[in-house]
This record gives sequence, structure tokens and C-alpha cells, in this order.
Amino acid sequence: MTRHMESRLKIDPFLELTQRHGLVNAALPQVAVLTLGLNVGTGGEWLIKTGDWVEEEQIIGQGPQGRVFSPIPGRVVKVTSMVLPDGTESTVAAIALEGAFKRTGKSVNPQPWEEWNSTRLFEMLEYYNFLATSSALEPPFHLDPRARIKKVIVNLLQPEPYQTNWYHLCLYEDQNIVTGIKILKKLYSPEVIEFAVHKRPKDYAARVISKFGSGTYTVTWHDAEYPAAHSKLLSNSETSLVIDADSLVALSLLARYSRPQVESFVTVSGSGVAQPKVYRVKVGTLVSNLLEECGVSSSGEHSVIWGGPFSGYRLQTDTMITITTRSILVLNPHETRIAEQQPCIRCSACVDSCPVGINPIRLFEGLEVKDGFQELRPELQRCLECGICSSVCPSRIPLLQRFRQERRNQ
Ligand code: SF4
Ligand code: SF4
Repeated sequence: MTRHMESRLKIDPFLELTQRHGLVNAALPQVAVLTLGLNVGTGGEWLIKTGDWVEEEQIIGQGPQGRVFSPIPGRVVKVTSMVLPDGTESTVAAIALEGAFKRTGKSVNPQPWEEWNSTRLFEMLEYYNFLATSSALEPPFHLDPRARIKKVIVNLLQPEPYQTNWYHLCLYEDQNIVTGIKILKKLYSPEVIEFAVHKRPKDYAARVISKFGSGTYTVTWHDAEYPAAHSKLLSNSETSLVIDADSLVALSLLARYSRPQVESFVTVSGSGVAQPKVYRVKVGTLVSNLLEECGVSSSGEHSVIWGGPFSGYRLQTDTMITITTRSILVLNPHETRIAEQQPCIRCSACVDSCPVGINPIRLFEGLEVKDGFQELRPELQRCLECGICSSVCPSRIPLLQRFRQERRNQ
């Protein structure tokens, strides 16, 4: 029988544990471990070798998605391979911190990006390999200069329980979010700006919206349901662009200061963390180092989840923060246990909870039959990989894991 983690979390959808602890800078990594790309096996090459010295934000690699920048100054100590959070293996470069930072901690005047036209802005995005995300539930993408975008949807919805980046960014990075939206207006001249926000708490979104100016936007209010933040649930139109708060902050920092994406906002939460917070973390920081800073011992019995409780991965080995890392969840043993998969009891909980109307158990069983695959392909393509079906299943059937595996094999 398949063994996998059973989550027995009491889900508080919103502020959770991080609310009173705010957003803080994580300690600088003594060693930063960088990947060439966001996926394994997609090529690229390092422009550095062991023993080289690099400056902060120097281009050190050409990955499949674009240029790779060093988050810290230092010396290249190793170019090797490492297991990524999803279990795949990738080439990595390890840089030991040494020397002075050119940008971090320095006061720099903003560039006059308002005077630039969209062509110049897109050139900048391409040079710095800017990658946006619609939500923490989806892979990153480049902003396409050829796209005809009529509506920009500013996604301020919580992707999964515990993931409170959106709340903290609205409170502490509101100006950058607003600037990010203004840059998108310049890039695409959309007809509509829409804010997708939760009905409660209202204060966080109001802070951003009030700074945006009157009469130039619409607001859609959402219930506390998961996975409301997935872009396909917000819009399926090719002329809509859904973008999250993390990406808007990064877009603002790039246009105003030419800062590549060498930092990520990461919620570190869960009952295994004494002081849950949202951290501004240098990309390449090892998860073990970040957890140490949060008072989590590497020898503890807790479970470390990469991502949210529904769709996250349980980390088996140490790995590094990337630009798409949004949350790390640390759970105590009494909250998780290894459960045996049981036969389906036809309770239909998975069917009732799927946000896109898939029958998960029918799909799961269909995939077990070799000849049935072609027929099931469209249904598999519709799956958002949100993990709600697996989470509600009383028989602990690994529905999401099976769908993910099948999509990767396609
Ligand atoms: S099948 Fe499961 S993982 Fe896929 S969208 Fe439905 S609930 Fe989410
Ligand atoms: S929730 Fe689990 S037990 Fe219930 S119908 Fe779906 S797969 Fe079967």
C-alpha cells in the first residue's frame, strides 16, 4: 500500500500565526546555492567555475529561462548537482559569502522609469529575466510583449492556509505593489485593473487600493475558499493577466532600481515554528539555515512542507530558496502522521470539493488502465494541482500525487 503524509491540520484561512510578527529580513546566507533553471533537465550553462570571485548581482549563468544573477558577493566553492524540492535533480553552483555588497543596504536613487516607453521597459524585463507568477499555485512566466492584455487582475488572495505573504506585502510593501501595477499599465495599457481580494480582513487590501487612486479600478470580493487564488479560477481569458503581490513588488524593484530577482518573500509558519514570520530571503539560502534562524532544529521530528498544506511537498532533504518559494511549513509530529492508503469508500468528498468539476477518483482509477489514458487527457489537463481532493479524502488516496506524476510524464 502507498504510504503518504496525512495532514490533520486545523485550517485557519487567514492571518494565522504570522500576523503579529510581521515581515523581516532573513540573515544573509553564508553560502548561496543557485540553480540554472526552475526545472530539471532543461539545459543552460554556468558562466563561472569553481574558484571564481563574483560580485553581488553579477550574471553567473545562462539558464533555460534566462540569465541567472548572484544574490551575494563571494567565491564559487562548488558546481555540483542537488535534489530540488520536488525530488528532481539539478545542477547548482555554491557561492561562499565574501567581500562587500554593492547594492544591499545601500541607498540608491530610483530610475525615471515613468519616462520610458513600453519597448524600453520590456527590454529591461528581458535582460533581467523577469519572471512573474499569477499565484503561489502556478509556475512562473515571462511577461509577453506581444500579448494583448485588456484586463490586469491583481491577485491578493491567499493561495493556501498559512501563506500570508499577500497580507504582509499589502501592509509593508504597498507602495511597491502600486508601482508594479503602474508599470503594467505602461506595458499593456489595459482597459481594466481589477483587485481580487478576500472579504475579510478588509484593511490589508484597502491600504493598497486607497493608494491606487479613485475610479480607475474594480474590486472583486472573494470568500475564504481554496484555491480561489488560482489564475484559472479568476479568469480564463487570454486577454487577462493575473499577477500576484510578490511579482508586483519585484517588478517595481526592477524598474526603479534595476534589481534582479535575487530575493524572495517566504512565509515560515506552522506550529513547529516558535515565531512564525514572513521573511525577505536571499535566493540560494538553504532551507535548513532559514529554519535555524526561526529556531527550528534540524534534528527535530517535525515535518517540513515546501509550499502549502494542500499541494506542498514534504522535504526529505535540504534544499534552497528559489524565486518561486513562497512558504515553508513546519508541523509537529502530532499534526502529521504516515497513513496507510485504504480502498475508496465512494464517499464523493473529492468530487464535491474539486473546484473545476473533475471526478478525481474516476480520473485516478482511469489512469490505472493503460488504454484509457487518451480519453482522460483533457480531464487531466484541467486539473489545477491544488491538492484539495487528496486533502479531503478519508482513505488517504494520493490523488494529487498521481495526477502530478502523470502530467510530468506526458
Ligand atoms: S482533481 Fe484534485 S488537484 Fe485537480 S483540480 Fe480537482 S481538486 Fe484540485
Ligand atoms: S474522497 Fe477518497 S474515499 Fe471518497 S470518493 Fe474520493 S477517493 Fe474515494
